[in-house]
Amino acid sequence: MPGPVVLAVDEDANSLSDIERELRDRYERSYRIVCVGSAAEAEAELVRIAADAEEVALVLAGESLGGAPGSEFLGRVRRQHPQAQRGLLIDYANWGTRPTGQAIFAAMALRQIDYYVIRPLRTPDELFLQAISTFLLEWAHARRLSSHTVSIVAKSWSGRSHELREVLGRCALPHNFCLADSPEGRALVAEAGDGEPLPLVVFPNGEVFADPSDAELTVAAGGPVDLQGREFDLVIVGAGPAGLSAAVYGASEGFRTLVIDEGGIGGQATLSSLIRNYLGFPRGVSGRRMAEQAWEQAWVFGAQFAFMQKATSLRHDGQRIVVGLSDFPDVSARAVILATGAAYRRLEVDELEALAVSGAGVFYGGPASEAPALVGRDVFVVGGANSAGQAALHLADYARRVTMVVRADSIAAGMSDYLVQQVKASPNIEVRLKTEVVGGGGEARLERLELRCRDGGAVETVEAGALFLMIGALPHTDWLPAEILCDAGGFIGTGTDVAEAPAWPLERAPLSLETSMPGVFAVGDVRNGSMNRVASAVGEGSTAVRLVQDLFALARLASWDPVGGLPDRH
Ligand SMILES: Cc1cc2nc3c(=O)[nH]c(=O)nc-3n(C[C@H](O)[C@H](O)[C@H](O)COP(=O)(O)OP(=O)(O)OC[C@H]3O[C@@H](n4cnc5c(N)ncnc54)[C@H](O)[C@@H]3O)c2cc1C
Repeated sequence: MPGPVVLAVDEDANSLSDIERELRDRYERSYRIVCVGSAAEAEAELVRIAADAEEVALVLAGESLGGAPGSEFLGRVRRQHPQAQRGLLIDYANWGTRPTGQAIFAAMALRQIDYYVIRPLRTPDELFLQAISTFLLEWAHARRLSSHTVSIVAKSWSGRSHELREVLGRCALPHNFCLADSPEGRALVAEAGDGEPLPLVVFPNGEVFADPSDAELTVAAGGPVDLQGREFDLVIVGAGPAGLSAAVYGASEGFRTLVIDEGGIGGQATLSSLIRNYLGFPRGVSGRRMAEQAWEQAWVFGAQFAFMQKATSLRHDGQRIVVGLSDFPDVSARAVILATGAAYRRLEVDELEALAVSGAGVFYGGPASEAPALVGRDVFVVGGANSAGQAALHLADYARRVTMVVRADSIAAGMSDYLVQQVKASPNIEVRLKTEVVGGGGEARLERLELRCRDGGAVETVEAGALFLMIGALPHTDWLPAEILCDAGGFIGTGTDVAEAPAWPLERAPLSLETSMPGVFAVGDVRNGSMNRVASAVGEGSTAVRLVQDLFALARLASWDPVGGLPDRH
């Protein structure tokens, strides 16, 4: 059986022969390798492959083909092969030079290429092969072909199957979905034993759950741990980027560390299909992948996790701080880090809220797991910030047309420039400024939206296959006691915000990320003044651990209680 195709096109015959040798030596057993010397031959191959219903996993192209940039050829690949990864071949001599860097940046901004790869220099060239494997892994993830993928089989995309996708998504578990009457669905149902109630959830180890509860799924996904009678040095509430960072640093410093999350790992970051501005990931990283790796890092250092556990209360008990949990007995710690982030504001159009509850075409947050279902549809994204821009770009790979509905009179005000450029360059993205969604509905799922221009005018009804709402956030602080000082928007005050407040009970000044409750720190999006970025959340998570260390060290030196009755240290 020939596998998916890896196609390389390069006009330099020597380079093409090196590339062909490396690809065949390493990948020929699993992929069909096609190497050609011109753009015309490559175009003809791609047409033939599409006609034969074969899949293309990766296309590599030289920097220049027939006098035109190779990136232009690569930009056309996805018209026929929407999932194919596209790599621009560059010479080692050009690596690090300004013109090549600019060409790569422009081609990525125009979404013509996924990344670049340096032509092989020796055999085996492990750097070249690693780059190829990364492309193939990205393709497998997009196709949900990874060996760790969980399968959901259900009668429809909405209702309970949507909820299950949400739960798996929140646990950062890669998953795919198939309808029960599709060939793949029928095969999975037959394997599980006909007659089992749907939806079915099939784990990669073969374990099958018929119509499982959320709790069953999270246990199967690796949590929660048994917390009975456990005392910790550090309890972290929230396993988004800020909490995961605090977990890595806390556990690596030797603290007995527990991380609690009412969902799974990753927080809002799991809604982001490609984070391109996080240090160390030049080709970008999906929020889910980043969270998986951070979780693994924290786990290897010894941090413990409790998923699907909501923190419900917080109080001092002598020298310890006690956190109440939704399903387990209280846990206690010497210090607590609040990393509970924020959630989207609601649109408050009743008909659309009802469709959002069942995931019937209306979604709060990004389109990560819904996008593949929207091929050929007209979809809408409400919002004008980076997250909305990313969502629109991701959807544009699948949908016929993506309309961004923005209240402001420009997208430049709320969006990073690189995203503005990408949105403008995408032929199937339209931006409607000064516009809001005022109504909509549908029978079983979203069919239409009502839009109104804020300058006045009639309400316009448009056909809509899906709506993604990304309209600002509210902090998760409603469960906190009054001793934790928050601003008018509910975001937690720290450091100088609380130093002068009557709520601060000690003589010493609060540490920089410390809240008005001594020994309790706040980091990431939940904090007043947060930068709302992954990098800043991660930085604050690690900084807070350092401050916890300082607090413990000073307490040891002075033999005083770290969370009460302290002398002034400043
Ligand atoms: C679609 C999208 C795209 C984005 N793209 C980018 C990007 O490209 N680059 C970038 O830098 N930033 C991006 N961001 C912003 C970034 O994701 C956030 O700034 C970051 O996730 C904040 O991290 P956090 O840990 O502070 O909070 P969150 O990520 O919000 O995590 C908070 C966690 O706390 C948990 N929690 C809340 N309350 C409780 C409770 N009571 N008990 C237990 N657990 C609780 C939640 O379940 C959640 O897991 C994006 C955001 C979105 C939504």
